[in-house]
Amino acid sequence: MPLWLAARRDSMSLAASLVVCFLFVVTNVQAEWVYQRQAIMGTDINLSLWHEDREKGEQAASAVMAEMHRIDKLLSPYKPTSELSILNRTAVLEPTPVSAELYALIDKSLFYSRVSEGAFDISFASLGQHYNYREQKKPRAEQLQALLPSIDYRQIKIDPASRSVFFANEYLQIDLGGIAKGYAVDQSIHILQDLGVQHATVSAGGDSRVLGDKRGKPWSVGIKNPRGKDEGHEAVALVLPMINGAISTSGDYERFFIDADTGERVHHIINPRTGVSVGGVASVSVLGPDGFDTDPLSTTVFVMGPIRGLALIEALPGFECIIIDRRGKVSYSSGLAAPAH
Ligand code: ADP
Ligand code: MG
Repeated sequence: MPLWLAARRDSMSLAASLVVCFLFVVTNVQAEWVYQRQAIMGTDINLSLWHEDREKGEQAASAVMAEMHRIDKLLSPYKPTSELSILNRTAVLEPTPVSAELYALIDKSLFYSRVSEGAFDISFASLGQHYNYREQKKPRAEQLQALLPSIDYRQIKIDPASRSVFFANEYLQIDLGGIAKGYAVDQSIHILQDLGVQHATVSAGGDSRVLGDKRGKPWSVGIKNPRGKDEGHEAVALVLPMINGAISTSGDYERFFIDADTGERVHHIINPRTGVSVGGVASVSVLGPDGFDTDPLSTTVFVMGPIRGLALIEALPGFECIIIDRRGKVSYSSGLAAPAH
C-alpha cells in the first residue's frame, strides 16, 4: 500500500474516533440522573429518574411534583377546601357525589376494611382527628368513649351508580392518610411512563415505587431501623434489591410522642377497636406491584399484628412483608424468608 494512503487512513480513523469521543461527551452531558426533593403532603417527596435528555428529565420531575401538589389539594384533611374536607362536612348530612378519584380511594379502603375485619378503617379519623403528635396531645377519656362508636367503616355507605358517599353516623369522619401516598407514587410512575421514562424511583415518606432498574442493577431500597434515631443505632435495618414494584413501610417512629403520664409511645397508627395507638409492632413493610395496595396493606398488617398480618399477606398473591416488632425481632413472609437449612 502506498505510504500516503496508509497515512490518510490513520488520520481518517483519528477523525472518526474524535467524532465518537465528541458524541460520547455530548450524550454524557445530556443524559443524566435527575433528582428532586420537596416537602409535600406533610412528608418528603424524593424522586430520581434517568432521561436521555436532561431538560425533558427535569420537566418530567416537575410534572411529578405538580401531581403530588394536586393530590395534596384533593385529599388533605388540613385544607378546608380539599374534596376530602368538603365530603367530611356534607356526607354526614346527605349522600354526596364525589370525583371518580376520591370514590376509588374510598372503595379500595373499604375493601381492605372488609378483608382485615376492620383493622384498616379510614373512619379512625372520627377520633383520630383529636390526636396532635406535634403538640403531644391525645383525646380525653370522655372523647374516646363518645367517639369510638363512630369508628366503623360499615357506616360509610357508597353507591357506585350515583358515585356518592354517605356517613350513617353523625360524628363519622374519614382520613386517607393510610392510602394516599401509595396512590400518589403510583400516579407519579404513570406520569413518568407516559413521558418515556424507563428508570425511576419515587418516594413519599414511607411509600416508594421503582420503575425499571437503576440502569443495569436493581434499586436498593432501605428499611429503617425503627429505633435507629432514638438509640443511635444503624439508621437502616435492611436493604432490599428491587426492580419494578412498590414498597410501603408503616412505623411507630415517624409521628409519635411519649405520653408523660404513662410513658407510652403514642403514634399515628390507631387500633380502630380501642381508639389508641397499636402496640407490639415497630415497623411493617409490604412489597407488591403498586402503592395503591402496599400502602393500605402496611397499615393493615401493622394493626393486625405479626400472626394475623402475616396470614393475610400469605393469602394475597403477589405481596410480601417484613415485620419488625418492638423487641427487634424480624418476621418475613414466605416469599422472602431464607430457605431452612
Ligand atoms: P405514613 O403516613 O407514615 O406513610 P402509614 O401508611 O402507616 O404511614 O399510614 C399511617 C396513617 O394512616 C396515619 O397517619 C393515619 O392518617 C392513617 N391511619 C391510622 N390508623 C389507621 C387505621 N387503623 N386504618 C386506616 N388508616 C389509619
Ligand atoms: Mg400505609
